[in-house]
Amino acid sequence: MEVGEFELIDRISSSFHTPKGVLGIGDDCAVIPQRQGVDTLVSTDMLVEGSHFLLDDVSPWQLGWKSAAVNISDIAAMGGRPTSTFLSIAIPENLDAGWMEEFIRGYKALSDRFNVPLLGGDTTSSPGGLCINVTVVGEISSGRSRLRSKARPGDLVCVTGTLGDSAAGLQLILRNVERDEDSKWLIDRHYCPIPRVDEGLRLSAMEGVHAMMDISDGVGSDLRHILKASSVGAKIDIEAIPHSPQFLRVCSRNGWDVAGLSVGGGEDYELLFTMADDCKPDIPYTVIGVICPEPGLVWEGGDKDYSGFRHF
Ligand code: ADP
Ligand code: MG
Repeated sequence: MEVGEFELIDRISSSFHTPKGVLGIGDDCAVIPQRQGVDTLVSTDMLVEGSHFLLDDVSPWQLGWKSAAVNISDIAAMGGRPTSTFLSIAIPENLDAGWMEEFIRGYKALSDRFNVPLLGGDTTSSPGGLCINVTVVGEISSGRSRLRSKARPGDLVCVTGTLGDSAAGLQLILRNVERDEDSKWLIDRHYCPIPRVDEGLRLSAMEGVHAMMDISDGVGSDLRHILKASSVGAKIDIEAIPHSPQFLRVCSRNGWDVAGLSVGGGEDYELLFTMADDCKPDIPYTVIGVICPEPGLVWEGGDKDYSGFRHF
């Protein structure tokens, strides 16, 4: 890359604000004071060119946004508040400097939206493809994290938002279909997901909300993680799964399987949670089923057998 490592770090450092009392970019470590009664949440995710994204398909701005978004979504999935991220990048020699600047702008746009400062990272050159690793740190009152293992028989199974949009967006990208308003909206849902941080915080403040995770692989396979960790089963009404009007129109125009895409398609980054049946969270959500004591995932409604369904 044309810009040197230290110049790039300087640029990154000067475009992000560090909160008062915190030591961010520039020393050997970031120093983040902790309070009593608070649990720290940490998660990290790697994006590798060729396996997670193709440089020709995605704009640098979108990739920057998405790199921050999918990590912050892991904090939302616990019901926590994201407090900082760390960004490590291995940059191929031939990548132009403008690309990295756009990437940082997208990363910053998402970070600013959720008020999450970037406090450090690492920058190296790569003999192969571009590699991006983001670590996210968050906090939550002690013991309030919503774990996958806490679903109870009788709980309602719920999701935020609409499912399948991102998977439909990906199909549109892969098939290079002509882009109308609906398809642009779906492609945006794929490239620029919005982590459900506020929803997660509200949910973790309610005693009746038991298990929670974010939907990254598709509700069909993600729900299995909750069922396994909680040693329970579930009955899900396929007709109850919420869809956007854009998704339904594009599926009907292209003859795509609505349930297949929304159950098996990943990367929606909505929240999947279970709660007591008298719990009434003050956020938009949809009940899609119920937790049962006997193990197994049963799909009801719909015209197909989705029992073995994992990935689209
Ligand atoms: P070290 O020798 O300890 O690895 P570096 O010279 O790599 O330190 O980094 C100097 C400072 O710049 C550190 O505070 C580090 O966290 C920060 N930094 C390096 N790369 C990035 C990046 N891509 N994004 C944010 N901060 C970075
Ligand atoms: Mg370093």
